[in-house]
Amino acid sequence: MVPSFDLLLQGCRLPDGRLVDLGTLDGKIKEIGSLTGRPSHRAVDCGGLVLTPGLVDAHIHLDKAFLSERAPSVEGTVAEALRVTAEAKRRFTVDDIRARARRALDQAVRAGTTAMRSHVEIDPIVGLKGLEALTELKREYARAIDLQLCAFAQEGILQSPGTEALLEQALANGADLIGGCPYNDTDAHAQIDIVFRLAREFDVDVDFHIDFFDEPEHMDVLYVAEQAVRLGWQGRVAVGHASELAGLSHEAFHRAAATLKDAGVGVIILPATDLYLMGRKDARHIRRGLAPAKRLLAAGVTVAVATNNILNAFTPMGTGDLALMGYLMTAAAHMGTDGDVADILAMLTAHPARILRLPDYGLHVGARADLVLWETERPAEVVTTMAPRRLVVKAGRLSIEHERSCKDLWRTGA
Ligand SMILES: [Zn+2]
Repeated sequence: MVPSFDLLLQGCRLPDGRLVDLGTLDGKIKEIGSLTGRPSHRAVDCGGLVLTPGLVDAHIHLDKAFLSERAPSVEGTVAEALRVTAEAKRRFTVDDIRARARRALDQAVRAGTTAMRSHVEIDPIVGLKGLEALTELKREYARAIDLQLCAFAQEGILQSPGTEALLEQALANGADLIGGCPYNDTDAHAQIDIVFRLAREFDVDVDFHIDFFDEPEHMDVLYVAEQAVRLGWQGRVAVGHASELAGLSHEAFHRAAATLKDAGVGVIILPATDLYLMGRKDARHIRRGLAPAKRLLAAGVTVAVATNNILNAFTPMGTGDLALMGYLMTAAAHMGTDGDVADILAMLTAHPARILRLPDYGLHVGARADLVLWETERPAEVVTTMAPRRLVVKAGRLSIEHERSCKDLWRTGA
């Protein structure tokens, strides 16, 4: 008999609570339902454990992960992080970037991340070394993770002569999209204009680091939204941080959120970095510095939660496990109800998939079979306990299998 499925996951609990079997064929979800007895190349008894789509990390910096020993955070400010990381970057080599990025990618893949957008710094300091290292890793890891590379002007464009030409080279040599950082330049709007010009020239999506301050003194995101609409780039633009949104009055926030929704601009909250670097001038009642996730979601904005940095001066903690960021959000964004926790899971899965414009993403028949099996029978615990991962499936193949053992030696006195 011809097997119906390449892989049959029996008895898994979907995030909506249904207990089902799921069969994959040719990399896609072929059927969901009661599939007992159906032939398959490989069958796994999931024992009622929770199955979600693969995690999608919409914003990470693989090229500057694991720099804390060389460039530690002392003051804990954005200015210091930019300064000491730029200094460390002078000594980057392709091998060094590749080794640190591999460590982050391995952590992410083992934790169930099946798609990721990494920013890659492009500037006269590091040139195209980051792109060279990460383009190679994009191919090496293709069976485990879809990696998008964003050519990113961390040091500015106008204030860093030569960067614009390097960005063009990066886009001509494999970068998937372009990213700017208007808060670190001499003229934010002029930088935004340059980034959109390159986006149109190369027909790529856009991703800005933006409005990364406690008070809403810049709100460059509104100019980004205006340009997205003017140029027909709706649904192709994302912004990271946008912490200034948290400081707006009620009315101004509603206007801004409606503008972002109408312009199809996705917001990516980076809770580890935002919590660490914002509110630094507050002596008491220290602000959290997070764009308001609940209010943005209520306004219909696409909102992702992402890792950003791992062990560097921007974020001196963390791992590549995206579930950490969900766990942080329950406390930092006051999102602890069942509905809130489901929203957090969506900000680690469906919302970032929309920002990355992943085709056929999700837990439905016909979707790409990128899946994670978690060691819990309660969907909320994916977020509230960072449940361990059991299996990861990428395009219908088992890509990661975790085996755990622990001996309570104290009980036996051994
Ligand atoms: Zn970032």
